[in-house]
Amino acid sequence: MKQLIVFSVCLVLLAGGSSEANWGLAGRKIVVDPGHGGRNPGAVGPTGLREADANWRVSTAVKHYLETRGGAKVLLTRPQNQDVSLAGRVAKANNWGADRFISIHHNASTNPNLKGVETYCAPGASWASQDLRNKIQKRLAQGLGTGNLGAKTANFYVLRNTNMPAVLVEAGFVSNRYEEARLKDPAYNWKEAWYIYAGIADHFNVKP
Ligand SMILES: [Zn+2]
Repeated sequence: MKQLIVFSVCLVLLAGGSSEANWGLAGRKIVVDPGHGGRNPGAVGPTGLREADANWRVSTAVKHYLETRGGAKVLLTRPQNQDVSLAGRVAKANNWGADRFISIHHNASTNPNLKGVETYCAPGASWASQDLRNKIQKRLAQGLGTGNLGAKTANFYVLRNTNMPAVLVEAGFVSNRYEEARLKDPAYNWKEAWYIYAGIADHFNVKP
């Protein structure tokens, strides 16, 4: 019990807010898609951080906030140690009848100095997709202070083929030494998750 209390207090401190659940997202069905996984590490950082692992930690923390504070229903598209095809991820979201789809990734570049956050929706996507993208991008860029690369469009498979408003977050560069060091820290991953969650809450016009 003591451990649980200490853990809860840590979460509250990380969240920078009160611990009160507000159930503002009750009834919403949200798919959180941790990019890559299993034998597919995604991008690998200069000191070995696997993007898939950072994606997993952030995704499960986003799930936690959505469920315990927002009261939303959340489905993850893959288990921790397994990759799932892009078609499989999309099928899970479409078959479940999700209200929103949030794909979580971290970036890589041949330019080792490049860092910052960018969020995508598909070209010509609905107003809801664009709004969700803009709200998440704003929260992440302001909250993490690592650089704002903007709200963008790209023809990613998971954005093109999902039936519901969908966005893809690139929450930092594993190829940048400064950002890689931060992304290795679970406390920092919780922080990323908080801002993604807050952006989702903003999009639905409720308090995070
Ligand atoms: Zn990725």
